[in-house]
Amino acid sequence: MKMEINGQWCITEVGHGLDVDNLETTATWVPTPTSGTTTSDPNGADFDAMVAKGHWLLHTPRPEAAKIMAVTAPFSTGTPCVAVVFARMILGDEDKGVRPFVVDIHDGDNLYEGISVKLLPPQGGSDPLPHSITYFNNSCAVDSLSMPNPDSNKRFLTSLSVPQSKPSFAQSIYRVSIGALALSLSASNYIKLSATIGLVYSGQRCIGRPSSNGDRQNKQIPIITFSTQQYPILTAVAQAYVLDAFYDWVTEEASFLNPVTVDDTTLRIRRAMAGITKAMTIQFAYRGCLSISERCGWRGLFRANMMSRMHALARGLAIAEGDIVGVSMRTTMELLLGRYKMPLATDPQNILAKHEQGLLQECREVLMKTKTHRSEEVNNHVLPRCQKIVEAIGHRLAYEAAAGASQNGVAIPTCVLDLFKISVVRLDEAWYIENIPGLTRKTLDEQEVKAMAAVLEIADRLIEK
Ligand SMILES: Cc1cc2nc3c(=O)[nH]c(=O)nc-3n(C[C@H](O)[C@H](O)[C@H](O)COP(=O)(O)OP(=O)(O)OC[C@H]3O[C@@H](n4cnc5c(N)ncnc54)[C@H](O)[C@@H]3O)c2cc1C
Repeated sequence: MKMEINGQWCITEVGHGLDVDNLETTATWVPTPTSGTTTSDPNGADFDAMVAKGHWLLHTPRPEAAKIMAVTAPFSTGTPCVAVVFARMILGDEDKGVRPFVVDIHDGDNLYEGISVKLLPPQGGSDPLPHSITYFNNSCAVDSLSMPNPDSNKRFLTSLSVPQSKPSFAQSIYRVSIGALALSLSASNYIKLSATIGLVYSGQRCIGRPSSNGDRQNKQIPIITFSTQQYPILTAVAQAYVLDAFYDWVTEEASFLNPVTVDDTTLRIRRAMAGITKAMTIQFAYRGCLSISERCGWRGLFRANMMSRMHALARGLAIAEGDIVGVSMRTTMELLLGRYKMPLATDPQNILAKHEQGLLQECREVLMKTKTHRSEEVNNHVLPRCQKIVEAIGHRLAYEAAAGASQNGVAIPTCVLDLFKISVVRLDEAWYIENIPGLTRKTLDEQEVKAMAAVLEIADRLIEK
């Protein structure tokens, strides 16, 4: 990658976040004077020829239709910015729906005519990125159909739909799934970093009075001796190992596809997989960053130690490339309505598989009693469970991937798998104790102590310092 162009993605508007169907930015087809007026259909065979003769005008009809969050402001770095802008395609009097358009935004120093950008104030806590609000004022001209013309200073603007007969919205935004997977991988690094910082700190930080001859080791004990330090750190270690094995599996499953030849259902499954991966990873990252940071005392709060910053970054990742709550609701409803299925459990008796199926069944029962999936019952009793269901699917898939995986020919230690399993049972402890025969808080405590002791014994090996 040469980093010659800053590529941006402008879909979200000030007034339209999750409800992308209602975007207001328009891209109006304007025939050039020589081509005459045309009413050709954008999906028809003559569309290419038609586009060659005219241009699209992008417009922000009101402030709420301005694009938000993309990093479109020029910073005199010399790196030009090109954006994929989602807008309503207007042909004559017809609204052809939301389509992607490629637009030159700036040349590295100056915005192109008709485009204006306002910088947003910095986000709290995380690394500063110059997120912006972007406005279009009827001024983008077609310069070339699909590629920027290197000999021209003019902008280019075109519909990505030109080579395709009819891209669905899911096809147009299929790269969001890849983005969600990539963001999950970033968030998993926060878990690993927090675990490493926590283990190093807790091994070095001692309590007790230093001996008078200055031999600290004789009198003091490191805080890692305490189970309250061990639990968050070792849990994060176990989750990081399991996630790594899961990513090997899910990236293979979800990332390679050709959006032109793949049908909508396959795209939906890929999107669900990416959403499940992100929901579970962020769930672990939130807990890992916060709980380990707290166990590092005042040092955990300082920017240099990264943990508060990683937690703030994870909050951004939870929203970008598919808001977790929104993706969870869509995935759960699609599963409940039978639009597609997730891979079946290799061991349906595994308590994680039972949990996943149990939660889904509870929601199915609510759905069966109502006439529509938009009812008040669904609002009250299904929607609040969707994120938990998506996370539960992730826990089961991740455990299965890790149980069957090996790293450099060595299987993931059983104690790591056990601690992972207990850590996710803890996330919905009441359900497991209500539904798994023989499981009580006491037996769970005992299993946890055993798994934690075994992981502690090999912790130095598991964490590369
Ligand atoms: C770090 C970061 C980077 C980003 N980068 C980009 C970018 O480069 N380009 C871009 O276009 N966008 C970008 N975004 C924007 C992102 O895609 C949106 O924030 C996201 O789609 C959610 O939209 P919103 O923030 O307007 O939330 P809203 O749509 O206001 O949703 C807020 C909450 O309301 C609830 N809600 C909304 N609708 C429903 C519903 N139908 N049913 C139930 N609950 C609902 C959900 O709980 C949701 O979490 C970025 C965001 C972040 C945080």
